Amino acid sequence: MNILIINAGSSSIKFQLMDVDSEETKIKGLVQRINQDNPEISWKIRKEKSKKKINIEDHRGGLKEVLDLLVDKENGVLESYDQIDAVGHRYVHGGEKFQDSTLIKDELMKDFEKLNHLAPLHNPNNLAGVRAIKELIPEVPNVAVFDTSFHSKLPPKAYVYPLPYELYEEKGIRRYGFHGTSHHYVSMEAADMINKPYEEAKIITCHMGNGISFSAIDGGHSVDTSLGFSTVCGIPMGTRSGDFDVGLVTHLIKSEGYSVDEVHEMIYKKSGLLGVSGISNDARDVEKAAWEEGNERAQLALDILHYKAKKYIGSYIAAMNGLDALVFTAGIGENGWESREAICKDMEYLGIKLDKEKNRVRGKKADVSKKNSPVRILAIPTNEELMIAKETKRVVNNL
Ligand code: ADP
Repeated sequence: MNILIINAGSSSIKFQLMDVDSEETKIKGLVQRINQDNPEISWKIRKEKSKKKINIEDHRGGLKEVLDLLVDKENGVLESYDQIDAVGHRYVHGGEKFQDSTLIKDELMKDFEKLNHLAPLHNPNNLAGVRAIKELIPEVPNVAVFDTSFHSKLPPKAYVYPLPYELYEEKGIRRYGFHGTSHHYVSMEAADMINKPYEEAKIITCHMGNGISFSAIDGGHSVDTSLGFSTVCGIPMGTRSGDFDVGLVTHLIKSEGYSVDEVHEMIYKKSGLLGVSGISNDARDVEKAAWEEGNERAQLALDILHYKAKKYIGSYIAAMNGLDALVFTAGIGENGWESREAICKDMEYLGIKLDKEKNRVRGKKADVSKKNSPVRILAIPTNEELMIAKETKRVVNNL
């Protein structure tokens, strides 16, 4: 079954055509600089990479280029659009309404529009992608796979904020959580690796990329997660602050003369690794400064990240009353063995015993715990596209 996976962002569209049954990627690529100068499309078929300049104005133009490429006589991988069985869209926010991957029927488009205010930087672009595909290949079913839906079974004590309850009831202000596709994928892989039924396993997934979120997954459901209503809370990230004393927001505005926009910019774009180190949002740059140049603020930025990560793991073990597997994924989690070592240090009391030698792997699926570690510590590369393809197949097969 051929699934076209689309991830439409503000100025780019990632695409991938996958045979979901064999898990073979036939082509993957990226349309870049939509609405900017010199847009281009680049793609990879097996190991061969190509790119070309294109003349487009919007997401529809970008997706038309993608579809043309798929059936291109010279470069294409399909004979006709009939060979696309379904399109799976990465959709950031499903709100409370969409708790599962969903077939995007025309009559639901209004409901999708209503979600835009929940993720104004992401959902409108996702929706533009859906509209364009519906226009360009109207016969093919479209499925939305939400970043939030894997967290839809959070208990109220984990998703209601201790604020006036009306905010939740009247405005839908609550913890939603993100990166659900990644948490779902790596937790299923983890259950497989530890030979425990998914429905019985207690797993903590640490998704550590530019964005960072951890999830407590009990019996196949996310029961707590570190991102919330917004994507700025929890563990400090590349440029986002993570949790801090919320009283500071009003203090900075009322007593220090900051505008609301300045505080917003500060906590989303100037904090985290970048804010503390003053060097970069990229973990590798910060590590280089700390370890090769002895930069103290860079080391402090890493220490804060690892310390907060460790505390979240401890709290999720408490929340689940146990742990079978601790999973590290995404850029830092998959590759940064130094971060895994720092986070797992002094966690023996909680059954977390890292094997330092085995841990020295980058970008590979591996069990990096000691033989006698009660908790299995796993590095698992995430594959959100495969998960989107599998979800799309599940929804389409249930039609
Ligand atoms: P995104 O959230 O944009 O998908 P990624 O999952 O690609 O991001 O993660 C990007 C982060 O992973 C960056 O901070 C980068 O420095 C970090 N990273 C990538 N490779 C390594 C590595 N070998 N060691 C440490 N960190 C790494």
